[in-house]
Amino acid sequence: MSSQADPEPLRVLVLGGGVAGVECLLGLHDLAGDRVEVTLLSETRDLHYRPLAVGEPFGGEHAQRYVLAELAEQCGARFVHGVARHVDVKGHVVKTLAGNVLSYDVLVVALGAVPHLSYGRALAFDVTTKEMLSRTLNRALRGEVRRLVVALPPGPHWTLPGYELALLLAHAAAPADFEVVLVTAERAPLEVFGREATAAVTGELASAGVQLVCDTRIALSGSAPTTVAMTPSGETYDADLVIALPSLRAPTMSGLPTLASGFLKVDEHGRVSGAQDVYAAGDCTDFPIKHGGLAAQQADVVAEHLAERAGATVESDPHAHILRARMVTGSGDLWLRRDLGDLADPGTVAHRALWWPPGKIAGRWLAPYVAARADGEAGVPHAPAHGRAVEPADVPGPRHLDRLGDPPRVDGR
Ligand SMILES: Cc1cc2nc3c(=O)[nH]c(=O)nc-3n(C[C@H](O)[C@H](O)[C@H](O)COP(=O)(O)OP(=O)(O)OC[C@H]3O[C@@H](n4cnc5c(N)ncnc54)[C@H](O)[C@@H]3O)c2cc1C
Repeated sequence: MSSQADPEPLRVLVLGGGVAGVECLLGLHDLAGDRVEVTLLSETRDLHYRPLAVGEPFGGEHAQRYVLAELAEQCGARFVHGVARHVDVKGHVVKTLAGNVLSYDVLVVALGAVPHLSYGRALAFDVTTKEMLSRTLNRALRGEVRRLVVALPPGPHWTLPGYELALLLAHAAAPADFEVVLVTAERAPLEVFGREATAAVTGELASAGVQLVCDTRIALSGSAPTTVAMTPSGETYDADLVIALPSLRAPTMSGLPTLASGFLKVDEHGRVSGAQDVYAAGDCTDFPIKHGGLAAQQADVVAEHLAERAGATVESDPHAHILRARMVTGSGDLWLRRDLGDLADPGTVAHRALWWPPGKIAGRWLAPYVAARADGEAGVPHAPAHGRAVEPADVPGPRHLDRLGDPPRVDGR
């Protein structure tokens, strides 16, 4: 094992080239440099910045893809394209579908979650195909879809894009006889973001004309129109189209000690219970809220702990457990922030940035990385010159603009 007295770098194998995997890669490079030797294994060749994919068909920013081989090279890491199939925890090796064997000192599991159609007969919300969203929008604009339901399922799911989709469709289509209904299993809209966010989003939905039905599950029958039966109210509603956000299940990976749900239980440093030298971050952990900003913070905690293990002196991140969302509404962005460590925090809502760089995924290293690449192309403004937090003049109350971090020191920019 590597230490300050031992020049051998700590060999870190990161599984998954999504938000948590890339944040961990960037963080390790920044914090530990040559003290670590990182390999990134991913079944995808690029990181798709999918939070922007919802707004793209509505004229929003382009959902960029970042080539993982390039990103790894910039961080002095190795990229391996492949599918991880089995972890031999005792032997410290990972086997891939193609039969390759990758050894490690430390493993970071960042495999995300697997989307699963929550309500049969509904159209799956699939942002990998922006065509689906474009088609839906065009059908609504042509008047072929007059009553549309956006459904958010119970259990773990990505909540935010459901609200964004309902609002964007309502604002874009807006004919007098086009109805959008948002049905959610939550007790109140975006309840995990706190009561300020709930109030603001309720107002946004009302002014866009979106009907809101909370604390409700649905069952679907028939087609064109589809009958939507709501539980517990027992009411039914005929819809031309139902779009359902997926439920999220754990990824399959043999050899790892998972909970009954399949998700991985981790401690405060991201270490997987019962698996020596295995860490996990992001949607594949048992943390109940699945969100990119949280996935990035979990990856930061892992990167910090590993950098320390590798002998680096590390200042810990004070921003862990902050839930941040930049919500696209179709009439300007809403910025939501809540400290999950403070049960009394009602959350903060603003119409301008509450963190910097103002990425949709608020990652300490990922947000500056993305901003640095967009800079010039899209004119992303630069971060405030100094200080970790500054006070924006026109955000009411004692609100802080979190400075997430400086652009990571990567080569070849
Ligand atoms: C439409 C949409 C909008 C969203 N908007 C926001 C937003 O505005 N803000 C926000 O913070 N979050 C948002 N999210 C949620 C956010 O995208 C996820 O929470 C985040 O991506 C989770 O990060 P992760 O690294 O855990 O998983 P992922 O980003 O899903 O990464 C997992 C990676 O592992 C790879 N992988 C899986 N299995 C294997 C295997 N066996 N072998 C090798 N590689 C494998 C996958 O290909 C993928 O690259 C949104 C999600 C969606 C779908």
